[in-house]
Amino acid sequence: MERITIKQASDYVGKEVEIGAWVANKRSSGKIAFLQLRDGTAYFQGVVVKSEVSEEAFQLAKGLNQETSILVRGTIQEDSRSKFGYELVVSDIEVIGESHDYPITPKEHGTEFLMDHRHLWLRSSKQHAIMQIRNEIIRATYEFFNQEGFIKIDPPILTGSAPEGTTELFHTNYFDEEAYLSQSGQLYMEAAAMAFGKVFSFGPTFRAEKSKTRRHLIEFWMMEPEMAFMDQEQSLEVQEQYVAFLVSNVLANCDHALDVLERDREVLKKYTQLPYPRISYDDAVTLLNKNGFDDITWGDDFGSPHETYIANSFEKPVFILNYPKAIKPFYTKPHPTREDVVICSDMIAPEGYGEIIGGSERAVDYDYLLERIREFGLNEEEYAWYLDLRKYGTVPHSGFGLGLERAVTWISGIEHIREAIPFPRLLNRIYP
Ligand code: ATP
Ligand code: MG
Ligand code: MG
Ligand code: MG
Repeated sequence: MERITIKQASDYVGKEVEIGAWVANKRSSGKIAFLQLRDGTAYFQGVVVKSEVSEEAFQLAKGLNQETSILVRGTIQEDSRSKFGYELVVSDIEVIGESHDYPITPKEHGTEFLMDHRHLWLRSSKQHAIMQIRNEIIRATYEFFNQEGFIKIDPPILTGSAPEGTTELFHTNYFDEEAYLSQSGQLYMEAAAMAFGKVFSFGPTFRAEKSKTRRHLIEFWMMEPEMAFMDQEQSLEVQEQYVAFLVSNVLANCDHALDVLERDREVLKKYTQLPYPRISYDDAVTLLNKNGFDDITWGDDFGSPHETYIANSFEKPVFILNYPKAIKPFYTKPHPTREDVVICSDMIAPEGYGEIIGGSERAVDYDYLLERIREFGLNEEEYAWYLDLRKYGTVPHSGFGLGLERAVTWISGIEHIREAIPFPRLLNRIYP
């Protein structure tokens, strides 16, 4: 008898198989028991008919608690009533690990309770669906950048430099020196781009975000491509192609997950159509002011209501271009004719999901960068290696960062970013 996964059931119709699974749910009457089985690849039903199995096996099936792990044997058969299309007619069950008083029952639970039980909450069909979408986004990211000729480079997590400002840094000791956990791999990725042309990274980043929002995590994962000999316009094209590719692949490969999440496919399909609209920061401020937002003036960064309003004015992700110099990092390329703005972009997701990508063309002039580093009050010595990149064959280059969990939250259509990562780190929460 062959051991298979639930996902493989379609290849085994009429055959006897063995499956290792957990009991997600159970219904039974005097003559029949229905086991909802979960093995991580999919869910389906095991049917135990009293007259077809030993009395012992039937009693065992009737008594199975939620989340008991079992080895179950039987015959795969087509089942037109279930979405999955197949079920297992059970002949025998072996209990591997008992489960008593499983805390997460099919009834409603509060968020804090679920967060306290995140290690178990992950077993639910909704969380399974979200993690499948997360996995598909990661897989498609590698495929996209690979096919575009990028190579993957891993920047360090422990670092002595802090490109995004110092307020959100996690400090740690590096023997006798002070070090930080990476907030972005960008500066290292620029060095990699000067060495290898087109590079991307995918790794964890850490920000001590003091605010509680539904889009900020303390630890999140970021995709950071960096491209030599590319200006902002070319970078915007890569960004929109990449995001459309992610959405297309989720549509093509995550059918069941999208059903579980009740995500509207027609809405997602719109996001696969290019190009995405663009609006300048200046015009975005004017648009907001004209429409009753008097809490924003030129020079401010947008908050979530502003981003939502701008995004709702378009049906697709939108690029906001060229923000004020004062609110962007020191390495951003200055505008060729204007003193007050820099060459950068944010991609704002539709449906109120906010910024998913931040990108910019990078400053290439040595003297300009040195001056900016001084203006920002940064330690010049720590940036000597970075300045070297402008000394030895500097070229125009651009890059961007996409927050993985922001993309997962948006494409899945879920409410809060805490469900887009297996074990979220949030303000006031590091358990479990
Ligand atoms: P925000 O304005 O939403 O705080 P940011 O401008 O500070 O984001 P960037 O430094 O541009 O973020 O980082 C690049 C991307 O990383 C963002 O576009 C977003 O997708 C993601 N990101 C940033 N901060 C977080 C966070 N705390 N949790 C999850 N994702 C984040
Ligand atoms: Mg931020
Ligand atoms: Mg931002
Ligand atoms: Mg940003």
